[in-house]
Amino acid sequence: MTGAPLLDVQDVSKVYGGGGLLGGRGGIHAVDKVSFAMAHGETLALVGESGCGKTTTARMVVRLLDPTSGRIVFDGVDLASLGAAQLREARRHFQIVFQDPFASLSPRERILDIVGEPLQAHGICRTRAELKDRVVELLEQVGLSAAHIDRFPHQFSGGQRQRIGIARGIALNPKLVVADEPVSALDVSVQSQVINLLQDLQTKLGIAYLIVAHDLAVVRHIARRVAVMYLGRIVELADKDSLFARPHHPYTQALISAAPVPDPQRRNKRIVLTGDVPSPARVPSGCRFHPRCPIAQDICRKVDPALNAAAPGHAVACHFAKPSPIPVD
Ligand code: SF4
Repeated sequence: MTGAPLLDVQDVSKVYGGGGLLGGRGGIHAVDKVSFAMAHGETLALVGESGCGKTTTARMVVRLLDPTSGRIVFDGVDLASLGAAQLREARRHFQIVFQDPFASLSPRERILDIVGEPLQAHGICRTRAELKDRVVELLEQVGLSAAHIDRFPHQFSGGQRQRIGIARGIALNPKLVVADEPVSALDVSVQSQVINLLQDLQTKLGIAYLIVAHDLAVVRHIARRVAVMYLGRIVELADKDSLFARPHHPYTQALISAAPVPDPQRRNKRIVLTGDVPSPARVPSGCRFHPRCPIAQDICRKVDPALNAAAPGHAVACHFAKPSPIPVD
């Protein structure tokens, strides 16, 4: 990465409970010392199975959740150092688009007020006419039109509702948009339209995206870099091409082997992991992946591997990481 990062997440953890019945003595480690940085205008995807900590990480980045420890530095400013008014002002520059366009839009509000809400909250538009002009401009940017401005969410399809969510997300010209599973609630036929829209907006507006996703086909399409999470930790972080062509970590290899390949005539040889993901209240000793790892050795039960560079731009947390292209049938 050249220049100062837009977002610098440093050793961030989120622990729930601790001492209570829910968390036991050590608590539930939803996110455990996660670090990554993002450049202006880039797209980083956080991937992993349900419960791996990717959504919690994304919500800490936009301060919907406070980290238990660690620092989140946005555009050179430690967000924890800001008072309420300063944080409110900083929020203009990082916005979130939610997974479920049905649940995230108020059913009783017209599109003018839904998309215009952040503009009103930040006092951007002085008059109703100004607000209307800006909302029309935003609707047109996401492929909708002025004719939609007085309608209610139930009058739109799922894809259109997600476009409305995106219009609201870009209303304040943010530098970063966090998109939490932005297309997973949509039909496959609509997913690529929304992904293309996000990419077009990035080209035009220079927005950086932090995408939370479990679908590797979506990630392959949209991300420039990918961070794979397992049980609250990043286990592999690399450029997309490097990650898909030469995954190093056994968990990443298993995830990729289970995903469809772009060529429909071919299929990956599936690597099947045994057992389930352990509870974050009882994280295994040493490497947290060792109970399920097909190549685990003694040291893995004792020593927690750090996320270290395995190749330029490619970091892995594994004592025995080696690049292993996934064989195809
Ligand atoms: Fe498997 Fe050991 Fe690597 Fe963990 S450190 S992924 S258990 S080989």
